[in-house]
Amino acid sequence: MFCRRASSFDAEGRYILWNKKYAELYGATAHLFKPGRKFADTLRIGVAAGSYPEAVGREEEWLSRRLDRLFHPGGRHEQKLADGRVILIEEQLTSDGGVIGLRVDITELKQREESFRLLFENNPVPMVVCALDDEKILAANDAAVSHYGYARPDFEHMGIRNLQASETEAPWAREPSGDENGARVWKHVKADGTPIDVAIYSRHLTHDNRPAMLLALIDITERKRAEARLAFMSQHDSLTGLPNRAMLRDRLGGLLAGSRRGGQKVAVMCIDLDNFKSINDALGHDVGDKLLGDVASRLRSSLRDEDCLARVGANEFVVIQQDVERPEDVVMLAKRLLEAVGGRFLIEGHAVIVSASIGIALAPGDGDDADKLLKNADLALSRTKAHARGTYSFFEPAMDARAQARRQMEVDLRAAIDERILRPHYQPLIDLASGRITGFEALVRWPHPTRGMIPPSEFIPVAEETGLINIIGGNILRHACNEAALWPNDISLAVNLSPLQFRTGNLLSVVMEALNQSGLPARRLELEITETLLMENSEHILATLHALRALGVRMSMDDFGTGYSSLSYLRSFPIDKIKVDRSFVRDLAGNKDAQAIMRAIIGLGRGLGVKVTAEGIETVDELACLRQEGCHEGQGFLFSHARPQRDILEMLERQKAQLVA
Ligand code: C2E
Ligand code: CA
Ligand code: CA
Repeated sequence: MFCRRASSFDAEGRYILWNKKYAELYGATAHLFKPGRKFADTLRIGVAAGSYPEAVGREEEWLSRRLDRLFHPGGRHEQKLADGRVILIEEQLTSDGGVIGLRVDITELKQREESFRLLFENNPVPMVVCALDDEKILAANDAAVSHYGYARPDFEHMGIRNLQASETEAPWAREPSGDENGARVWKHVKADGTPIDVAIYSRHLTHDNRPAMLLALIDITERKRAEARLAFMSQHDSLTGLPNRAMLRDRLGGLLAGSRRGGQKVAVMCIDLDNFKSINDALGHDVGDKLLGDVASRLRSSLRDEDCLARVGANEFVVIQQDVERPEDVVMLAKRLLEAVGGRFLIEGHAVIVSASIGIALAPGDGDDADKLLKNADLALSRTKAHARGTYSFFEPAMDARAQARRQMEVDLRAAIDERILRPHYQPLIDLASGRITGFEALVRWPHPTRGMIPPSEFIPVAEETGLINIIGGNILRHACNEAALWPNDISLAVNLSPLQFRTGNLLSVVMEALNQSGLPARRLELEITETLLMENSEHILATLHALRALGVRMSMDDFGTGYSSLSYLRSFPIDKIKVDRSFVRDLAGNKDAQAIMRAIIGLGRGLGVKVTAEGIETVDELACLRQEGCHEGQGFLFSHARPQRDILEMLERQKAQLVA
């Protein structure tokens, strides 16, 4: 609030009237104010007393200017007082030649202006003051001058629009953008031509009596760039630069919405490189990464611009083909993609040959949302990989049903493990020369509450896929060791091991613990492994096998003849027993070829000092044949199915009784 302070003088400059507030203002000389006394005299006393800091050192000049102003009034002027106050003085002539003076204390206003000036000039944020009418820059702080790179005199004469890259309105004309809370975002150009993104905050103010805008200009170029990089990274695969799964889903979702309106079909293809893992393992990750890059560009160049290619897994790509009219269009593209990937790649001097498998789902028939289509294309891919690697297959509804059944199986299997329902049954192994039981093979059994006994051929693959095989395998081993410890001392126990149990790394301790806990001597335990395990040719697996053997445990080769049957692995690891697969036993009686093979295997075993066991003996004829060929041991329904421990103990009792008798 301004307080009015008034005084009046006659034509000779003598005091006529003054109010109390006027007297307060000039407290030091107020006692001199008398009607008839000359203003010039009190003023001179005041100057001498130092009441007017502006007069110090140039007292006469100041006095004469002040008195000159008094008698030629018509404007305003400011006056500083010794106590720091600033007074605005406005004087007017009266009709009789006298003067009326009005004074306003503007100290606070001046202080505000001063602190604003400091805040403006020293602010690290670039700021300018801009006239509202002609949009000229009226003032710029140091930060603005140095950030934009113009010389100050040039800068302070430019129009604000000269900074703008392309926009033609004044910066305050635009609506603030939502994500910059209250700021407007503009493109500006620096003196050296560099374009920058600027967030502009603005306030109205009066500058030198002109309506103006104060603009804070915050350079957000780097932040925008970083945001754009992040946005790109969150939607793309860093190795190939292709869209990732998140972006693929978005695109597919958008396309499906469009195609529903237009009635076109959309094909989704899941592409998987069949042998990528082995290439990666053999030639290293650098080669693997380059291969993926090359595969990506070959796939890309086989596509039309409007088709989308994404990388969704280590060696998995997805193609979205738009505007499909007939399934033949999809087949043609699938073939083209297989051909593109199927050729030779030359990477760092290595000639690499890859093949791919493709699974295809078509919208709208196979699903009308992105997730469903991707899932169904993936199911089709699993089918291709299982039955026809290197080719393509289309999704069929039966696959979905199978996949659902598999999921249900997994849920039930977990419950069965928790409830300890899985138990071993035991099938005897017979010494063919004496007809005596030499041991038993533990075979897992799952009595299902509604489905009856589920065969291992159905759930072991699910257990292997889900990793549950480690828990199941460990449980069966412990359980079987405990029960076998109750058998006579010369009866052995055979337990099947899945290759997956070798990968987790703790198989050795699982076996040692089972033996320790049960008290079963290691020499009575046989572990059955398959050819595929040795085909992996892994240091870790071989080391585990040797460590197991060092415990005294024996090793059997299961399902002999069904795998790759490359006999060289028999040299890589010493095997104690070969179990010849049932398929070689089946037609033994009437089939000369089958007999010749069996004879050769038995001969091989004899040569290597390895026991040969025939699996799946169902008839006496088969048994007779095997005996004749000199096969050591047999197993099969002819002797017994796998039975629970209760029956086994009885069986062993009978054998003991026969022996005694
Ligand atoms: P396998 O190791 O070859 O086991 C022999 C399979 O042949 C058993 O089937 C057995 O019941 C069956 N078999 C025995 N004699 C005859 C016969 O005379 N004729 C016919 N047709 N079949 C006969 P099962 O119990 O269904 O087991 C199937 C496979 O499941 C096993 O084949 C084995 O690979 C796997 N398996 C069973 N239990 C386990 C286990 O505890 N752990 C692991 N990892 N795999 C297991
Ligand atoms: Ca077996
Ligand atoms: Ca077998």
